[in-house]
Amino acid sequence: MSVEGVPASAGAPLAEALVAVIRAHAAELSAIDGAIGDGDHGVNMTKGFGMAADRIGSRQVSVSEALQIIADTLLADIGGAMGPLYGTFLGEMAAASAGTDVIDASTVEGMLDRGVDAVLELGGARVGDKTLIDVLVPARAAFRHSRASGATMDQALAAMAEAAERGKESTRDLVAMIGRASRLGERSRGTLDAGAVSCSLLLGAFAQTLRGAITPPAERHRADRSAAQPESRPQATG
Ligand code: ADP
Ligand code: MG
Repeated sequence: MSVEGVPASAGAPLAEALVAVIRAHAAELSAIDGAIGDGDHGVNMTKGFGMAADRIGSRQVSVSEALQIIADTLLADIGGAMGPLYGTFLGEMAAASAGTDVIDASTVEGMLDRGVDAVLELGGARVGDKTLIDVLVPARAAFRHSRASGATMDQALAAMAEAAERGKESTRDLVAMIGRASRLGERSRGTLDAGAVSCSLLLGAFAQTLRGAITPPAERHRADRSAAQPESRPQATG
């Protein structure tokens, strides 16, 4: 039986998806940062991810190599809070996916564990502080819990992306306790956190790209499930 997973060679489409989602939301990210920060988030992110895309070019890179190139670029060339935070997150994810031919659910869990733990340690923020941690921690937990309850990799990735989205929304009603926006105190309440928005976008694109590249395809699992539950099928007539 082959293991359900994504070929590790799929680095180029993953990088393209991450860069594309940041580019598509650059103005929105800066506008959100502008409300309670300095308005540079979309610019920083587009610059970093765009430079990384140029470095990857048309090369065939592994998932690990693609994530490492983006991480190195963010760490070396992007200032603000995001360069170090995302550089560390993606660099740890790269390390956790190196040296394998197939990125399976266990690999993804390891990637999320290393990445999220490193950002927790580096930034010192916790859930509720109105940062990207409000996205990362529930996303990682959702992936873990759905795996533990028997979900397929496809389902666990979907659960992770949904939790990321909910985590992003949760930042709207929070008061910023860390970073630039914390200087506003109560006035930071009522608007989303820019880093939480970009983080939800990135995890969503990560999940979507991996879900589209899972072998054997996720469709097979749906077919297996409906075959195992004949009562859910329409009744045959005649
Ligand atoms: P800067 O605040 O330097 O302008 P950016 O605008 O690029 O940097 O990023 C701001 C985002 O960084 C915030 O929205 C928040 O999510 C995140 N952030 C800031 N400080 C921390 C921290 N210590 N830990 C985790 N995330 C943080
Ligand atoms: Mg900013």
